[in-house]
Amino acid sequence: MDDWTILQLVLYGAGSLVALTQSVVFTHYHRVFRRDHLLLWALSFLALALYLSTSAISITLLGSMPASHPLRLTVSSISLVSAYVQVALLIMGTLAIWRTHRWSRRQVIAALGLATTFGLFGALAFAFDPQYVQERFFLRVGLRYLVGGLAALAMGFAIAIRWPRGRLGQQLTALALILYAADLLHIFASYCAQAGYGITWPWMRHVGVASVLTQLFIGYGLVVWLLEDERDRAERATDAAEHLRHFDPMTGLPNRQHMLSMLARQLEQQQDTTLLLVRVDNLGHIAAAFGMDGVDLALATSAERIDEVARSRGLFAARPDADHFSLHGTGLDTEAGAGRIAEQVLDALARPLFWNGRELALEASIGIALAPQDADTADALQSRAEMARARARREGAMRYRFYAPDLDAEAQQRLVLQAELRAAFARDELVLEFQPLLDGWSLEICGFEALVRWQHPTRGRLYPDAFIAELEALGMIEDLDMWVLERACTAALSWQRPGGEPIPVAVNISAYSFQRRDFPDTITTLLLRTGLSAGCLELEIVESIALELPERAVVSLDCLRELGVRVMLDDFGTGFSSLKHLRQLPFDGIKIDRSFVIDVLVDPRDAAIVRAMLALAHSLGLEVVAEGIETPAQLAWFQSAGCDRLQGFHFHRSMEHEAAVALVKRTPERAAT
Ligand code: C2E
Ligand code: MG
Ligand code: MG
Repeated sequence: MDDWTILQLVLYGAGSLVALTQSVVFTHYHRVFRRDHLLLWALSFLALALYLSTSAISITLLGSMPASHPLRLTVSSISLVSAYVQVALLIMGTLAIWRTHRWSRRQVIAALGLATTFGLFGALAFAFDPQYVQERFFLRVGLRYLVGGLAALAMGFAIAIRWPRGRLGQQLTALALILYAADLLHIFASYCAQAGYGITWPWMRHVGVASVLTQLFIGYGLVVWLLEDERDRAERATDAAEHLRHFDPMTGLPNRQHMLSMLARQLEQQQDTTLLLVRVDNLGHIAAAFGMDGVDLALATSAERIDEVARSRGLFAARPDADHFSLHGTGLDTEAGAGRIAEQVLDALARPLFWNGRELALEASIGIALAPQDADTADALQSRAEMARARARREGAMRYRFYAPDLDAEAQQRLVLQAELRAAFARDELVLEFQPLLDGWSLEICGFEALVRWQHPTRGRLYPDAFIAELEALGMIEDLDMWVLERACTAALSWQRPGGEPIPVAVNISAYSFQRRDFPDTITTLLLRTGLSAGCLELEIVESIALELPERAVVSLDCLRELGVRVMLDDFGTGFSSLKHLRQLPFDGIKIDRSFVIDVLVDPRDAAIVRAMLALAHSLGLEVVAEGIETPAQLAWFQSAGCDRLQGFHFHRSMEHEAAVALVKRTPERAAT
């Protein structure tokens, strides 16, 4: 072997080793980061290692063999195929970084197929004809340098132009590729010079060193690029985590913590600040009617509309809680300004919204607090706005309210009331009264509705409206329901006339108790313990409760019906009167709300509605009760409309147990059937 051959062998061997090392490095990175371009680069350098080592063998050891020798043909085929495959993989790997889609399997196969065809063509064409030495040499060696050089040049410029400045890895890679391209094209030129003019450039003996160096340089650039890329990804992940700490992922609005810190900053700067707290009040109904997707839509739409209003007024919108949104900012010096924004928010939320072709109505309440007059810390401002909002909500749907100092007093009173309520159970201050229900045709007593009262030590007898909501807030409403059920069943036993028509007791049941899975079992146990027959117990459930969990309601209603306990839909017509639900849920009857009773004689449209309700209920086999009959005219109207049972002050107010028993005794007994 002469010196030149040994030098070639060393250079190719060194180049091959470098390429192999780079392939191992990228394989390792691919294992860690699992990114496509790393695998493509790893394979590309593997192909380069193969190309260089087979080239070394082919030039040095097989150089003396005839071109058509099968061993030489095989080695040059492997060599050339890997050379083109290397170029294809390098290009695909680099492009993979800026492509949004991954290379499809078909695309990869097509590119590798093309590279292989090129390689095989170069290796096999003219291989068997000693006449075409030049052409063969050009195809095997020259063309590979030309194609490789042009591809590297294009890639180098593409990277340099495409990617932003200041990225060292990309700049190094671009430069390395351009140098590599210059090296390959230079070698190609030397072949042309030799083939065309028989000139051999003297420096060509050492040009292989440049190839190894530029190749090292490319690998180096790619590694720096990769590290920069990973650093960027880590920074982006940190930014995203930071964003999540301050913003609500669903709506993109600032969360409670961020909103409070923005507010605090404004207050520190002693700026006049206005806070509007908005709550979407009917998410429960939306969930019942449209499912959780409907709730998501309601929240996303509310966020969008509230943010729109905030932006138009130079305010900041936020989502401090699941169903709460807020708007805050400075410069709204007058109450009127804040009021106008509240109206604008309510108008925006009232705009129609559709879900699968059905209208989804949003209901909201807004509380407004102003700094510095209402509060001077962010927390206090928020709680005052919430107090105002709760008041607005109590007054009705789609309202807003400003904070007023009496709300503090109100909150204080509520705390006292709650403490007293806790004690009321222990001190036996709750009383059950009974209001008779009358047969619509004979006007005889056919039942009693149990109504709870609170004999307050200083304030006298309180009615449920004054304390039921507080019991709910305290989580004690189920205790009340159990207490009432127990007392009502015992009371009902005492007014049954032996052998006579049973006189049932109707008990109002809260949503919380009715929704419990074990509610039917509780009723079974209660009936067994008290000895009251199931037919003498009637339950009244408010419409909204039944609709919140319709599937659960159906199961409970079926169990209760099987027991023989009747269930009535109370306050019918006030809530989400869905006739569909009436058909789906197995109720025994409806109690038409008092508001209709008042209106039937005044408003012909209400009269028409009530007639329709009656007709519908009767056609479904349901019983109809009218509550709140106060005048003979109302009695006459409902009697003639065919109402099955009647209740109201016109007949009797609610009375204590003894009075109810006495009343039953006084009224003539109907013949037992
Ligand atoms: P409700 O179940 O619709 O009860 C009917 C209410 O209308 C009762 O008010 C009753 O006194 C009143 N009422 C009946 N006839 C007339 C009338 O002719 N004119 C007028 N102005 N009012 C009439 P009350 O006792 O204040 O009860 C209010 C609501 O409190 C009840 O509405 C019910 O939802 C709830 N409630 C009452 N007792 C209980 C209870 O023991 N447990 C539960 N969970 N809720 C109860
Ligand atoms: Mg009732
Ligand atoms: Mg009612």
